[in-house]
Amino acid sequence: MTSLAYRCWTPDAEDRRRVRERIVTHEGSQLTWRVEGDRVHLGLPWWQVEEEHLRESDLTREQPAYSRLPIPYTLIPFSVRTRLNRARIAGLRRAEAEGRDPFPADPVETRLDTFRQEMWTEASRLAGVPVQVDTERTLVLTHDLDEEYGLAGVEMLRRVERELGVASAVGVLSRRYTVAGSVLEALVDEGCEVFSHGYLHDGLLPFLPPEQLRSRLAHFFEVYPSMVGRVRGFRAGQLVRSAGMFEVVAEFFEYDMTPPTVELGGPHGWRTGCGTTIPFIGPSGLTHLPLTLPQDYFLAFVDRLSADEVAEAWTRAAEAVWAAGGVAVHLVHPDNVRRRPALLAAYRTFLERSLDSGATVRLPRDVVMTKRGVSR
Ligand SMILES: [Zn+2]
Repeated sequence: MTSLAYRCWTPDAEDRRRVRERIVTHEGSQLTWRVEGDRVHLGLPWWQVEEEHLRESDLTREQPAYSRLPIPYTLIPFSVRTRLNRARIAGLRRAEAEGRDPFPADPVETRLDTFRQEMWTEASRLAGVPVQVDTERTLVLTHDLDEEYGLAGVEMLRRVERELGVASAVGVLSRRYTVAGSVLEALVDEGCEVFSHGYLHDGLLPFLPPEQLRSRLAHFFEVYPSMVGRVRGFRAGQLVRSAGMFEVVAEFFEYDMTPPTVELGGPHGWRTGCGTTIPFIGPSGLTHLPLTLPQDYFLAFVDRLSADEVAEAWTRAAEAVWAAGGVAVHLVHPDNVRRRPALLAAYRTFLERSLDSGATVRLPRDVVMTKRGVSR
């Protein structure tokens, strides 16, 4: 049991054991359940299927092509990179077989989460254990500072957030650029969170020997000593990931925000993702808070949507996440906001709409602590 859903619905471990006893799994691939006698029978070996999805056990181990270029991909101008990426993604999109049911679905996959909740609720009823469903519409705001150019974009985003009275989490690199410690301290002082976004953003972290990875992760705290004890979270640049990388990340950080629920055309291929919108604990002991909403880059630069369309795409995806009992985790890049100020307008519209609809904005570390069982 790695999804934190169970722990939230059924906080008592003995109660969880009693509910689980009511669940009978079968060989097969059908996401179905039925009641027979006083047991819930599932149409597949659920615990194994769930774990394989959360671990992304089928994720390619191959190093992404751009990280093997003779020059760092970051030296290719943004506009050229985006044109190349758009062509690559159009090709991948055409290559995907039409008519089937792709998994994880985009813009957000909720079938596993909905199934989990239905069958657990039924098994709880049979076991006579109450289910505590949290209906909060939780929204987590994150900004990955991929390049120094984006630093002014952080303040642009913060101005909108301050007006609306919300705080966000900012991910910072340690080697590609360095930010003055005072900038990070000011963010923390005004109620924001800082997390590590890694070292160079070169897509190499999962492919390094553990010792090299360790020195890259430790570098963050060497460059930003005032963040020791304050930075507890991590998200790998490019969302590159592997089980081996998470083992080392767990030595330095308490939680991680790298796995997307679904990502199209990311560094690991066309359609990847952990398929859940609910935080989970991986084999390394790290708590993962999945990135559940579509990224600004894809919407604004690959699909070239207008500000209104971007805001609409975020709202639709957030509603789907909340309906499935998940946490809406949003990412907008400060450098992209500078490049395309319309993204700032889209962000404001999305935030206003979310707050009007009753969303509660929380920092990642607070969500992780709460879902682990520390009450708010
Ligand atoms: Zn990044």
